[in-house]
Amino acid sequence: MNGAIGGSEQGAPLMFDHVSVRYAGRTQRALDDVSVTAEPGKMTAVVGPNGSGKSTLVRTLLRRVPMDSGRVTVGGVDVASLDARDIARRVAIVPQREEPVLPLRVEEFVALGRHARRSAFGGMSADDHAAVESAVTRAGIRDAIGRRTDTLSGGEWQRVRIARALAQAAPVLVLDEPTTFLDIAHEMAVFELLDELAQLGQTVLLVSHQLNLVARFASHIVLLHRGTVAAAGDAATVMRGEILERVYEWPLVVTRDPAVGAPALLPLRGSGRHRERPSS
Ligand code: ADP
Repeated sequence: MNGAIGGSEQGAPLMFDHVSVRYAGRTQRALDDVSVTAEPGKMTAVVGPNGSGKSTLVRTLLRRVPMDSGRVTVGGVDVASLDARDIARRVAIVPQREEPVLPLRVEEFVALGRHARRSAFGGMSADDHAAVESAVTRAGIRDAIGRRTDTLSGGEWQRVRIARALAQAAPVLVLDEPTTFLDIAHEMAVFELLDELAQLGQTVLLVSHQLNLVARFASHIVLLHRGTVAAAGDAATVMRGEILERVYEWPLVVTRDPAVGAPALLPLRGSGRHRERPSS
């Protein structure tokens, strides 16, 4: 992924303020009094095991789940007071899963990111074309631009969805597991791109299972466990063996990434005759 960065607005803080969610028919809350702030100019990461509430947090922003209490604000404005178009002007979201329902050419799909900025009957403006062009370059999908979305590989589809969010040019970018299906080079390119966008002032909130990459790239990490915040802070605060072992319920050690010295998690083989012990 490369190319000039342009067209993105400066960030606005995204705040989840004492948010609680309980799905219909469930006794446990999926989120219980969770507060997370993603600041402009930073990459904030939400991590945690399966079922810890990460996607639910993203869904509160889309108002797809009924909140028991709390509020979500963007730039100080409660999203409950905004319509879908207003939200889309402020926040670009790459949801975890999405199938290419209606086959479109990649270029047309990325242009959907401009929808909230266009008038109901207007065509694409010069700004719209420039934003699509820039997003396609940044997401590294120029070669795929004329293809149909239903012919893409998992990794290409993922990057096309990221491009659509970039084309939105919203001050806040939220991505739920954006590097699933990506190989090492494309995964690193996504992290580098998000880092670059954060450094340019955007607010970047990332849900990820890649703890070791998150520890290298994110300036603020929130670790969720069964719908509550188990730890929050920088990598040194969150990437601690005793915390991670309790939350992930698996034996592990936290060591140092040999390249940059960031904390790195190493899961151990856990049971029976294969149980490992860290060497001293
Ligand atoms: P994560 O994204 O961290 O894997 P989720 O936010 O998907 O976690 O889920 C948090 C909890 O809410 C889990 O216990 C999950 O089973 C439950 N949950 C998620 N979606 C629904 C739903 N639509 N209806 C009922 N329970 C749900």
